[in-house]
Amino acid sequence: MQQHPESASGSPSSAKFEGPSWDNSTVYKSLSAPEIAMDTEAAAKIVVQLKEQAVIVEKAIPTVRTIVLNDAKDYIVAARNATVLFVDALKIVSDQSTFASCAMSVDSSDALAKDLYNKSKVTYSRLIEAYNPVTLFLKLCSQEIFYDFLQDPRVAAEQFNLEQERLLRDTTLSLSEENLIIALNNNGPSAWGTLYGNLSGSIVLDLDLPKGNAKVGLAQAASMLQDADENVRRVAYQGINKGWRTHEESASSILNALAGWRHEEYERRSYKKPVHFLDAPLHSARINKATLDAMLSAVSEAKNESQRAMRLKAKALGKTQLTPWDFFAPCPQFEKPVETRRTYADAISLIADGYSSVHPEMGEFVHMMAKKNWIEGTVGSKKRPGGYCTGFIRSKEPRIYMTYAGGTNEVMTLAHELGHAFHSWVMRDLPFAEWNYPMTLAETASIFGETIVNNMVLERAKSPQEKLAICWTKARDAEAFLLNIPVRFTFESKFYEKRKEKAQSPDELRAIMTESWREWYGDTLSDCDEMFWANKLHFSIPDLSFYNFPYTFGYLFALGVYAQKDRLGAGFYPAYVNLLRDTGRMTAEEVASKHLGADLTKPDFWRDSIRISQAGVHHLAEALAGFGIKA
Ligand SMILES: [Zn+2]
Repeated sequence: MQQHPESASGSPSSAKFEGPSWDNSTVYKSLSAPEIAMDTEAAAKIVVQLKEQAVIVEKAIPTVRTIVLNDAKDYIVAARNATVLFVDALKIVSDQSTFASCAMSVDSSDALAKDLYNKSKVTYSRLIEAYNPVTLFLKLCSQEIFYDFLQDPRVAAEQFNLEQERLLRDTTLSLSEENLIIALNNNGPSAWGTLYGNLSGSIVLDLDLPKGNAKVGLAQAASMLQDADENVRRVAYQGINKGWRTHEESASSILNALAGWRHEEYERRSYKKPVHFLDAPLHSARINKATLDAMLSAVSEAKNESQRAMRLKAKALGKTQLTPWDFFAPCPQFEKPVETRRTYADAISLIADGYSSVHPEMGEFVHMMAKKNWIEGTVGSKKRPGGYCTGFIRSKEPRIYMTYAGGTNEVMTLAHELGHAFHSWVMRDLPFAEWNYPMTLAETASIFGETIVNNMVLERAKSPQEKLAICWTKARDAEAFLLNIPVRFTFESKFYEKRKEKAQSPDELRAIMTESWREWYGDTLSDCDEMFWANKLHFSIPDLSFYNFPYTFGYLFALGVYAQKDRLGAGFYPAYVNLLRDTGRMTAEEVASKHLGADLTKPDFWRDSIRISQAGVHHLAEALAGFGIKA
């Protein structure tokens, strides 16, 4: 579910700081528990029953747009039954898949886990396929039929999701055309995505590192970009670029094919009204174009101020301009490091203190998560890196996965993931259909929680160096969300415009990329990462385009919520919980208007959030001034 890209590191002396292992036995005792097979069988049975209902609904499909209520009674009953069955099976399959992937995260070589994971994937695709006629029926039928369908309390909660789907009615093609697109996807966009994965996985770089020569893959080279030694970072960056240069024809073919395919599809869908290349990403983000424009214009007018983070970092690293290999440079050490690691128990109580400052219930939630062993924090060589929050649907229990070894970054990851867990916790009594929120709203509780704990850590910092390290990370967030993500959006927009005319050569892609970097970073960068279009996976994801602006939205929206904390005082907590509860049944604009009285289509809301972000940059300036560095 939610992924937070903070990686963790464990050192031999980390034992006393290490986090606990989680307890998932409330779901299944083990991967060989008989209940797993029983559930699989139950899900398979439901799929059979579902198919029986779907066959009835399928008969309505050829005339679905014109059929009247009186002639649709049988279809409606079958659609309701099918929906109930679909949700039942979905819960089982989700729990199995989550249980398996949790086990795989702790030990990626676990064969039983892999087996269960693959099986649940197969059941899932069978389930979607079986339900497909009902999906189409509910999307394309008349309003009258649709509202009649919703009269059954068992399916009433599906209203919002279905209404969102129904917004796409005028751009839906005929059944045979839609089926053709799905059938061609495997060897079309999906295949381009596979090629990208294979390509990036097979590139081997020969790096001339300060410690000697090394042959490494792209992922390993990327982790070197966080090295304290600039020579390591530079060699890694140049190696990555050289690696992609060698494959630039393939990488540009992938990008051009994906965008070309989408343009073609959008054109076919434009039979009633023109479909823009931003329509699909905006729809899945559940925001409208005016909101995106307002956000981007506020971010753009703050550009100079955001660039200040880059100038400060340059000074701290002893430079006048940053280079592309400085983006992930760690905070420089100006004084002897003191022990800043926290034991897991200390981290929990610190986060609980922070959360309690909003409301005692939030602090109690943190303690409950720890007490119930719903957090995986051990240090292990077989564990996959990073952290995420997930959950079991039937027992309504969240889980957090990470590696905890005591570092401040890990405390922040824990605070972040606990925010996600809290979000799902306050939604647990809602119908399953209302649990699913878009990426734009998914980071609200996590970044909110992280911001609260961050301020608390800053207050309690043991040394100026520790304070600086925290500010360094915060300033990196400001730069990432207010400059780096906008670069990606600008690049993709320009590229999609140009791609309408013709495929873009690697030289042309480099030119668009460079232009986009300059537009946002101005002169704060000495060079531009001109191969970023190839190196960043996000541009080559087959299932979705513009996988960028929702990040900036999520960040600024969460800070906007944070800004209301002092303004609303005691009224804040209930408003906050209600806001979170509505994230799966309203658009982002509706959520903001109802709970914050904010209009997302106007830049003002965004300006407030940007001000909070830039306060973090201001703190960095103060922390650096303490070490005699002025910018
Ligand atoms: Zn997150």
